Amino acid sequence: STVYLNGEFMPMTEAKISPMDRGFLFGDGIYEVVPSYSGKLVGFEPHIRRMQDGLTALEIEQPLTLEQWRTLTETLLEKNGGGDLGVYMHVSRGADIKRAHGYPASVKPTVFAFTFEIPSEPVADLDKVKTYKAVTEQDLRWQRCNIKSTALLGNVMHYQASQRSGAGETILFNRHNELTEAASCNVFVVKNGVIATPPLDHQILPGITRHILLDVLRQDGSLPVEERTIDMDEVKNADEIWLTSSSKEIAPVVELDGKPVGNGKVGSVWLAAQRLFSECKYNY
Ligand code: PLP
Repeated sequence: STVYLNGEFMPMTEAKISPMDRGFLFGDGIYEVVPSYSGKLVGFEPHIRRMQDGLTALEIEQPLTLEQWRTLTETLLEKNGGGDLGVYMHVSRGADIKRAHGYPASVKPTVFAFTFEIPSEPVADLDKVKTYKAVTEQDLRWQRCNIKSTALLGNVMHYQASQRSGAGETILFNRHNELTEAASCNVFVVKNGVIATPPLDHQILPGITRHILLDVLRQDGSLPVEERTIDMDEVKNADEIWLTSSSKEIAPVVELDGKPVGNGKVGSVWLAAQRLFSECKYNY
């Protein structure tokens, strides 16, 4: 595949970075993943804005403008044949001459992007939907989970707990027994027709899928939705649980810690929500 590294397009096998890159040594960087179906991007601008916010939080200079990111992305998609592709974008603080914790005074950020094949777009169809089993764990990550840092070891270790149990995700709760998010997704619950998701704060990533879903639900107005603190007991007793992310869109969880969620089947509120999402997602 063709990748982008520091201003140039090249074969993946030719892309080289310094072992002194702070992305490698410290996980000192920000990343994004944007899905594209047949060349149509979902949420491109909010994804780039979130990356820019992350770079600002880390005091890394903005290497590209929104329009330059767009050109880079469109070129990369074209060079990789279009189709259904995820675009991974990564900006690290760059390579320093020494390994020291403090941010170096002058260093050029490393900018890297590549595409990878993704499944065809999820559809609002009870027979075709991919369902998930999830396990739960106490959220042991850092307290800046709103920053989409490339330092993902906490997420990776939480995710692995699901793999050991033959599940597909790990849903996390804080020390007050409140839902935060999953290892690589945001989480929504449904009870008696009311949809709820935790509010944005330092405990969760401000997911773009979460944002789009909340927006389409509110514009439609027929399904009540709340952003509020959710106790894990509510998660365990929910009628429906959904995972949201750019690659999964809205994915129903049918089993939690080995027990069925609701009646163990994909719910009717999921169907309505995924239908609205599918109709509107290219407007973002
Ligand atoms: N939460 C975490 C920890 C993530 O890594 C992700 C990314 O996939 C999400 C939530 C969902 O975010 P988005 O909808 O922007 O893909």
